[in-house]
Amino acid sequence: MFFDNASTTQIDKTIIADFEKLNNELFYNPGGLYAKGRGVASFIEDCRNSIKDSIGASASDSFIFTGSATEANNMALMGTVKKHTRKILVSMGEHPSVYNVGVELKNRGFNVEFIPLEKDGTVSAKMFEKYMTEDTDIVSIMYTSNETGAINDIATLVEIAKDINPKVIFHCDAVQGVGKFDINVEDLGVDMLTMSAHKIHGMKGVGGLYVKKNIQLKPLILGGGQEGGLRSGTENTLGIYSMSRALEIATENLKSNSEYVLSLKTRLIDILEDSGLVYVIHSKDNASPYVLSVSFIGCRAETILNMLSDRGVMVSNGSACSSKKSGNRILEAMGCPKDEIESNIRISFSKNNTIEEIENMATILINVVKEYLAKVR
Ligand code: PLP
Repeated sequence: MFFDNASTTQIDKTIIADFEKLNNELFYNPGGLYAKGRGVASFIEDCRNSIKDSIGASASDSFIFTGSATEANNMALMGTVKKHTRKILVSMGEHPSVYNVGVELKNRGFNVEFIPLEKDGTVSAKMFEKYMTEDTDIVSIMYTSNETGAINDIATLVEIAKDINPKVIFHCDAVQGVGKFDINVEDLGVDMLTMSAHKIHGMKGVGGLYVKKNIQLKPLILGGGQEGGLRSGTENTLGIYSMSRALEIATENLKSNSEYVLSLKTRLIDILEDSGLVYVIHSKDNASPYVLSVSFIGCRAETILNMLSDRGVMVSNGSACSSKKSGNRILEAMGCPKDEIESNIRISFSKNNTIEEIENMATILINVVKEYLAKVR
């Protein structure tokens, strides 16, 4: 039973079915000057336009395909920072692909400040106002936390930022938001926004960066000049298709998926409530329906994870990328005590999970926690 959907999802089976035809008809290099090559290039443009439509981008804005959201996040910060950039703001809640870029830029001598999180895992308007100054040139704050599911009010934060410095570049990592929430870049007011295909039932190794017109971006990868010179390398046609098609499917079913997934999460919480266990749910009142971050006090998360894995249940502690490191930067930033951090697991859902799976998983989880506590007490 797979409950680690915030780390990745299974590719939609209808998309896999489309691959065969695409591989026959569109395997040509989109850079080829022959008609077949031009055909692939135009197919990629259709995919790009479909994604731009889904996120409310205008025709003159750009959307750059990358090899991952990690790359898109790196590009957003590294590609806009200039010698004379005065101040960069990054939230403490960011995924390592933003946070570690912030740390790197700080190490290189830039003035980077990390905005603390509230107890609920968000960046509050009040806290943001303390950090946002007239000399802030770049801000990066995520839409939804991959760790706790906490949702930031990006539109309000952008408004505050632009009131203080109208020229500030506001980037949002929306990897856990795109395809799950109604995300419109115009309404949010962001200048750049990152997404990833494999979190929404597309292929791994495909990401994208929305870039508003007039934002000056430098490439990280140089070469043959693909993607308008901003991201060289032969385009991953099937991957790009998978992202655009996955987003179309997700957008068509946004509300029903969200309601369904919320019903799964609610059922799990109801079962936990009746279990008599002592636990803490993080970002309880403000989290994405797709993520449940829960700490079973007195347990060691890693042991619980292994015990669950032995019984066929896959969950995670923190994000997959950082799970090998001890501690949890995000929960620490939220001010969670040590016993909550050590015992924290992340259960993340997708439209493919069923209520039966939830009930089975909940029974296994409760037994595992009770077994563990009985052993250590
Ligand atoms: N940003 C967030 C919020 C994520 O959850 C992830 C993946 O866990 C990433 C960025 C990186 O995505 P990718 O695997 O496409 O590099």
